[in-house]
Amino acid sequence: MKGVLYVVSGPSGVGKTSIIELTLKKVKNIVFSVSCTTRPKRPGEIDGKDYFFVSEPSFMKMVENGEFLEWAVVHSYYYGTLKKFVEEQLENGKNVLLDIDVQGAMTVMKKAGDAVYIFIAPPSFEELKQRLVKRGTEDKTNLERRLEDAKRELSFIPQFEYLIVNENLQESVDQLCSIIVAEQVRVKRALDRLGMHKFFENGGGYVE
Ligand code: 5GP
Repeated sequence: MKGVLYVVSGPSGVGKTSIIELTLKKVKNIVFSVSCTTRPKRPGEIDGKDYFFVSEPSFMKMVENGEFLEWAVVHSYYYGTLKKFVEEQLENGKNVLLDIDVQGAMTVMKKAGDAVYIFIAPPSFEELKQRLVKRGTEDKTNLERRLEDAKRELSFIPQFEYLIVNENLQESVDQLCSIIVAEQVRVKRALDRLGMHKFFENGGGYVE
């Protein structure tokens, strides 16, 4: 039984990382896909845990070699999802969670079809601005770029299946956990997992 792929997107500063970290601690049988990026490492970030930090030439080489399930330029840097990791985990029955931008989510939608798409939005644009300022990870230029990008990202919401408005961290974590669990017991997936789909072949009747 293949694992389920969860794609989580949302603007920078919305609180995605905290929601995802807490969710991964609560939900069983799910792994986080660590992306590659050319963005400089922030203080406290760990290579191989937060991202694989690579140079631009290395990133381009990986693009040429077809190593990414998707990749995109986000806030002026390259980011990409490692195809081999995701495919291997899914094949081994592990559920995989991606934290990627909306462009990446659209690419996965075209390529991978059967994934679950979740958008995390701020309660308001003003609140997003305050959170980014408070986080203090961006200089003025980068902050403005991220806010500008956020407006564009929010316009993609209708293409997602789930919308979590992050007003309260714990509530958002509960919502993401619920989505993850509920998607696994959808009839089509549950029947596969139980090996029961054969019983329902031939027009839905129970077949000996
Ligand atoms: P940050 O630089 O704040 O860690 O991330 C910036 C944005 O890049 C976030 O919206 C995050 O979701 C997105 N991102 C992280 N990894 C990937 C990836 O592999 N592919 C794409 N398309 N976006 C990513």
